[in-house]
Amino acid sequence: MTKMRALVLEKQHELSLRDIDLPLQVGPGQVKIKLHTVGVCGSDVHYYTHGHIGPFVVKAPMVLGHEAAGTIVEIGTGVAGLKVGDRVCMEPGVPDPDSKASRLGMYNIDPAVTFWATPPVHGVLTPYVVHPANYTFKLPDNVSFAEGAMVEPFAVGMQAATKARIAPGDTAIVMGAGPIGTMVALAALAGGCSRVIITDLAQPKLDIAGQYQGIIPVNIREANLLAEINRLTDNWGADVVFECSGSPRAWQGIVEVVRPGGTIVIVGLPVEPVNFDIASLSVKEITIASVFRYAHQYERAIALMASGRVDLRPLISETFSFEESIKAFDRAVEGRPTDVKLQILMDA
Ligand code: NAD
Ligand code: ZN
Repeated sequence: MTKMRALVLEKQHELSLRDIDLPLQVGPGQVKIKLHTVGVCGSDVHYYTHGHIGPFVVKAPMVLGHEAAGTIVEIGTGVAGLKVGDRVCMEPGVPDPDSKASRLGMYNIDPAVTFWATPPVHGVLTPYVVHPANYTFKLPDNVSFAEGAMVEPFAVGMQAATKARIAPGDTAIVMGAGPIGTMVALAALAGGCSRVIITDLAQPKLDIAGQYQGIIPVNIREANLLAEINRLTDNWGADVVFECSGSPRAWQGIVEVVRPGGTIVIVGLPVEPVNFDIASLSVKEITIASVFRYAHQYERAIALMASGRVDLRPLISETFSFEESIKAFDRAVEGRPTDVKLQILMDA
């Protein structure tokens, strides 16, 4: 164990920037990374404000942060394809490679998966981390560290777009223009959608998402989504609806905006159970797909970013230094409608 400075969630409502013992021994198949940029995620913030997410409860001090990019500073034995000095981003979830879920290709839902900043596993708001090389991905020269730290949430969008089985030219609706919804919309466009209607109640978020070609913002405080989708599709409905708000309210009327035989992809995770009319879904033969994180999405996510087809930089609202980490989290708790993604620069 090595003492390192880290942003530690001591318990609900209590953060400190202090030294903590973390494992830094580089084993076979592992690499050591000097962290450069770490994004602040809704889940990190939720552990801070609520102390738990579903069954995951913060019972001991935990380092936060899981959306990360950095530089390799040490290589373990048996690592091929990565070298010291490589700029990389990391998948925060490491499964048991021999588990049944992993062998089926669904390593994200392996019950044994360990995921940064999910109790009891420490996250990466600290200068260095040791990680398996297999979950560490090289960043092309034209993808910045800031963008590298956005591959993690974008991979959720990639997983959602993959699960949606988009056909070229499809029309999609994305409910919720937070970081996840906006990245789902961008992945859906990259996956072949001709247009994506994105909804929210906060106009500044819609304005940010609406800067992208192909994204049509709809403020559901002012406009009726059903009327809007009917107008755009000659009363047929959207091929795919991605629920990315996590609000139970978004489920009211969701079936009406999907076309017959269309698909609803569940991305948002409501904290309370949702009351839902299943029969309305059956009579339209709607397919429901759900998403938990991602599997096998990083390489394609990075390729899209490197190609210039997906530019996530407009979603970065502000960057804080590591010393300002607590300030960054308190800012995230404020939930400003003009903020999409806040990031922390580790070596500033
Ligand atoms: P966020 O809170 O930043 O964004 C949610 C947005 O939805 C906000 O802008 C809010 O104004 C808007 N909203 C609220 N009610 C709405 C409604 N009725 N209709 C349309 N928009 C509405 O959250 P985020 O970080 O973007 O994450 C979105 C959701 O995705 C959360 O529920 C989160 O837990 C979930 N999530 C799921 C996965 C997964 O693997 N399935 C991964 C990451 C996040
Ligand atoms: Zn995240």
